[in-house]
Amino acid sequence: STDAGSVAASEQELPGWVHLSSGKVRDLYRPAPGSAWAGQDVVLMVASDRISAYDHVLSTPIPDKGIILTQLSLWWFDQLEAAGISHHVVSVEVPEAVAGRAMICRDLQMIPAECIARGYLTGSGLAEYRQNGTVTGLLLPEGLTDGSQLPEPIFTPSSKAAQGDHDENISFETLTENVGVPVAGQLREATLRIYVLAEEICREAGVILADTKLEFGFDPGGALTVADEVLTPDSSRFWPAESWEPGAAQPSFDKQFVRDWLTSDESGWDRSSNQAPPALPQRVTDATRQRYLDAYQRITGTELIF
Ligand code: ATP
Ligand code: MG
Repeated sequence: STDAGSVAASEQELPGWVHLSSGKVRDLYRPAPGSAWAGQDVVLMVASDRISAYDHVLSTPIPDKGIILTQLSLWWFDQLEAAGISHHVVSVEVPEAVAGRAMICRDLQMIPAECIARGYLTGSGLAEYRQNGTVTGLLLPEGLTDGSQLPEPIFTPSSKAAQGDHDENISFETLTENVGVPVAGQLREATLRIYVLAEEICREAGVILADTKLEFGFDPGGALTVADEVLTPDSSRFWPAESWEPGAAQPSFDKQFVRDWLTSDESGWDRSSNQAPPALPQRVTDATRQRYLDAYQRITGTELIF
């Protein structure tokens, strides 16, 4: 893909760790031989300040994004743990160069599916609904619009595409073909349980959790474990509750400024072209950083101290 260069260029040398792989936003490392973690089934997951939009990794990072999203994710892992849901975080004692933006996690056998729960209709769910009246094959009531609340939260899995490809929404039946009936059932139950828990926490904080994407893996004992990042603006749609009004795109706590600017005349970028998007102006990166901080502060009720 056209993004490969910027992804590869971002890895850094970290004492005690060996680079394993890089996605659009995060870099994975395994313990170096002879290091403190050597021989243990762990990975170091480092969240960079990279931001992706419209399937491109942008050339302009958002300052502190990796720290803000990691800290929000860790806060959520604590909430999940308190509810008896097991997750992959082992330690946050990470190399100084990535302090705050990295976590040491159990190296899980990842399940190749993106587990999405939706309580509201928008995005790819809305697109399918407008075409067929369904989302991942689930029939929904008539008359819903962009931003409508669904009668109840639904589980709408998608395939985990290879880098550069689009994830594709899949039916529950296809998921069962991919991972087996028992695992598919476990994924649906765990995903909806986490959504219901998080939606309530968000609602009390004046935030609508419209949808969220989770990834799971199996630990060596075969226990289903929540992995990756959780309930961040990169993996979820958060809307300020006070401005929720179905019928159009909702303002949100994520890369909305970035998307709006990229598709504005000012950027001069043609989304349908194969060209890489232009660099972002500082007011857009500043506003986006502030938006991520606002999300952290609203949801956790505390200010993030750097
Ligand atoms: P992209 O998000 O760019 O489409 P990606 O999801 O592969 O690609 P990132 O999200 O940037 O990449 O990187 C995180 C990677 O780490 C993902 O592949 C994710 O599945 C993997 N991962 C998350 N938690 C664990 C874990 N506990 N053990 C092993 N791999 C994990
Ligand atoms: Mg990912």
